[in-house]
Amino acid sequence: MTVLEQMLEQTGSVVILGHVRPDGDCLGSTLGLYHYIQTNYPAVRAAVYLEESSPKFGYLTGYDAILHETDEERYELCICLDCGDEERLGAFGVYLANASKSLCLDHHITNTRFCEVNLVSENASSTCEILFEQLDEEKIDKAAAECLYTGLIHDTGVFKYSCTSARTMEIAGKLMAKGIDFGSIIDNSFYKKTYVQNQILGRALLESITFLDGKCIFSALRQSEMEFYGVNGKDMDGIIDQLRLTEGVEVAIFMYQTGPQEFKVSLRSQNAVDVSRIASYFGGGGHVRAAGCTMSGRIHDVVNNLSLHIAKQLDAAGPQEE
Ligand code: AMP
Ligand code: MN
Ligand code: MN
Repeated sequence: MTVLEQMLEQTGSVVILGHVRPDGDCLGSTLGLYHYIQTNYPAVRAAVYLEESSPKFGYLTGYDAILHETDEERYELCICLDCGDEERLGAFGVYLANASKSLCLDHHITNTRFCEVNLVSENASSTCEILFEQLDEEKIDKAAAECLYTGLIHDTGVFKYSCTSARTMEIAGKLMAKGIDFGSIIDNSFYKKTYVQNQILGRALLESITFLDGKCIFSALRQSEMEFYGVNGKDMDGIIDQLRLTEGVEVAIFMYQTGPQEFKVSLRSQNAVDVSRIASYFGGGGHVRAAGCTMSGRIHDVVNNLSLHIAKQLDAAGPQEE
């Protein structure tokens, strides 16, 4: 029996949490576990608390049951998924504080081991991959498989980032064998965009600027621009991925304004730069090739501050192969 199963066997109630601004892996892992508990541990009272997420994930079983506000409920066991530190639980951290037992499943290199039991594997492609290893394969049904598959494709960029391993593909195969419509899941949650999402992607690419001899690229969206197009933070998926794919670029930066002089920053690197180190320095975190943080100041200041750290790492790495 796995650690997760042992803990589920011994509890009467579970609260499932993820990180602020939930993404595909966060939603896939929390809802996959929620559904698994509901079908296989019907006596256990379970609930998922997360911030509002993009409606494109509405096909995930349990999406409408997610609670978005804190309440007076208390749960014995708190399971935190895809979350590297307590602060990233946002307002729902209160359930962790009130629980008598806690378990964290995560793959962030910056994870602080903030739960009682921490199953953290930096080499795993996604939290969904770690979760899969903790579940009884026989007891995973089609609905749970859809959730887990969603996490795999989002954190691997549909099986192409360096975090994708042979094991990731094996797990994807096992999930496919549960009868999921994998093509629709990939199209609807990863590639499909609304008209305004395409517009904002176009705008971000059009206004992007390269620096450090074309090794870096950045693009920034101000609140006024977001208001003009009628978009919010949930509409930005895919922008950083396209910036990252610009020929010759080692590090891509995308940021959108979240307050007066405040920006949510996404960082991606190709080879030489560890962006988790840079994001950590500015109070954020993530993975070696994909990380994020929130930064204050004008766009110009934010880029300058990041640029110093990127240049230092690029210099240390020496000349890159063309
Ligand atoms: P994003 O650029 O927001 O897609 O995030 C890239 C990766 O970094 C994801 O795995 C996030 O969970 C992680 N990440 C983003 N922002 C933060 C933050 N402020 N603190 C810790 N990890 C973060
Ligand atoms: Mn995530
Ligand atoms: Mn993840």
